[in-house]
Amino acid sequence: MTKKSMDKIMALSKRRGFVYQASEIYGGLNGFWDYGPLGAQLKKNLRDAWWQDMVMNPCGGKPGPNGEPVRIVPLDTTIIQHPKVWEASGHVAGFNDPQIDCRETKARYRADHVLVYGPKSGERAGKPWFAYMPDAPSEAKQLKKAEKAFGEVVSFPLTQLTKEDYASVLGPDAEKVGSLTEPRAFNLMFKTYIGATATEDDVAYLRPETAQGIFVQFKNVVDTTRVKVPFGIAQTGKSFRNEVTPRNFTFRSREFEQMEMEFFCHESDARDWYKFWREARMEWWKSLGLEGENLQLREHDPEELAHYAKNGAGVCDVEYRFPFTYPNFGELEGVAHRSNFDLSEHQKHSRQNLEYFDADRGELLPNGAKKGEKYLPHVIEPAAGLDRGVLAVLCEAFTEDASRPSPELMKIHPRIAPVKAAVFPLVNKEGMPETSEKLHQELSKRFNRFGFIEHDVKQSIGKRYARMDEAGTPFCFTVDGETAGSQTVTVRNRDTGTQERIALDQVGTWLGERLGLA
Ligand code: ATP
Repeated sequence: MTKKSMDKIMALSKRRGFVYQASEIYGGLNGFWDYGPLGAQLKKNLRDAWWQDMVMNPCGGKPGPNGEPVRIVPLDTTIIQHPKVWEASGHVAGFNDPQIDCRETKARYRADHVLVYGPKSGERAGKPWFAYMPDAPSEAKQLKKAEKAFGEVVSFPLTQLTKEDYASVLGPDAEKVGSLTEPRAFNLMFKTYIGATATEDDVAYLRPETAQGIFVQFKNVVDTTRVKVPFGIAQTGKSFRNEVTPRNFTFRSREFEQMEMEFFCHESDARDWYKFWREARMEWWKSLGLEGENLQLREHDPEELAHYAKNGAGVCDVEYRFPFTYPNFGELEGVAHRSNFDLSEHQKHSRQNLEYFDADRGELLPNGAKKGEKYLPHVIEPAAGLDRGVLAVLCEAFTEDASRPSPELMKIHPRIAPVKAAVFPLVNKEGMPETSEKLHQELSKRFNRFGFIEHDVKQSIGKRYARMDEAGTPFCFTVDGETAGSQTVTVRNRDTGTQERIALDQVGTWLGERLGLA
């Protein structure tokens, strides 16, 4: 497996309308990205696949560890919640990243992302440590300087230096030593004000995760629907984090979309459900084409765990090997046993009883019924990033092949491809465009809920195939000289470039089967 070029992936994403820089005509806005026509549809298809496989038909109908169908209901909560929600969740006090500033360049860094080069021998003799951001241009520059100063060098996290040492660091982009400030906690929540007066009493926050809206409405869902524990509540939506150093294309953005599901179960079943969701989520990403050595499941080390997860069933991440993390991996989705931390905090802060009454538990009564048990359910949370998902799909799909009409093509899985198929007349005459337009209309009617069906009559057929390869269109149907006689068309497979003939009146059925929609 070789490392793909992020520059080329970003260039294609822009050129073909997958991802644009937000507010680009004004110079862009750091940490914000827009999706172009193909990207918007790709993102919708990925979100829809999640919705289908998490809410409408969880895990494709596979039973849970209790042998019963998995039940999940949807929810759609607001971006701005009561400020107390974020006090209860711990975000006001604890959602901080250590930030350092460079007094010289005014650049800002996340302290735990910065590394330093020092001498291998440990001897510095008045020379500085050379700080750098991995993958940034400053990395090579600082390495060169460090090697000149020390010969052989080692690299380690900046946070391992003592406070006094900060005076002896050359900042990643600085000319003079000692320009970095000490790390200070920076809360990642975006603040806003509710109402016209805009005083400190009116402060509210844009949600940094969708999960809390689910916990806050847990009781309403239980009281107004017929769900019974174990069950899940799912929602997708925008979240906002004022990241200190947004970077790596859309990977770390300040506005992004999450797909989160909170699965409520009895404490004694948490371990089984954790294992179930860990496997199910890994399988889901695989089913969308991220299979192979670029995908891995990583169980967290005990020291990595959040306080509420310390004695739990576990926390793991589904990780993808992005070109910018290569040869390492970056988080796509976290699966965590959150104990009953969130419900118990909201119960405390809201002074509302959020306990669930489980009529199927407790001792057996003489009348044959169960006594019932009141408890705060434990939660298994699979929390995925939609934008990171789209980015992983784009990176995985990007393929270079100099022998093809398009040297760059996107092998996007047919289920989520934004353009499902294209229809072409081989030449723009002899009745071919009329037949192809008719087929285009027919396929559009049948499949446009899932993505675009394109019709293209311009340029040579080779150029049209090339355009579709770059857009990630899995299949192209061509009406040619034989169509009128044999009532067949050719179908070209994007990934292999091979062609076969199929009956004109079978195209819809053929395509439906390939898209998994038959
Ligand atoms: P990281 O460690 O990368 O900052 P996290 O562990 O804080 O991520 P979670 O709070 O678990 O992330 O959020 C769940 C998911 O939301 C992540 O797996 C990721 O896919 C997505 N996500 C989180 N922060 C961002 C961001 N700044 N930009 C894009 N996606 C994000």
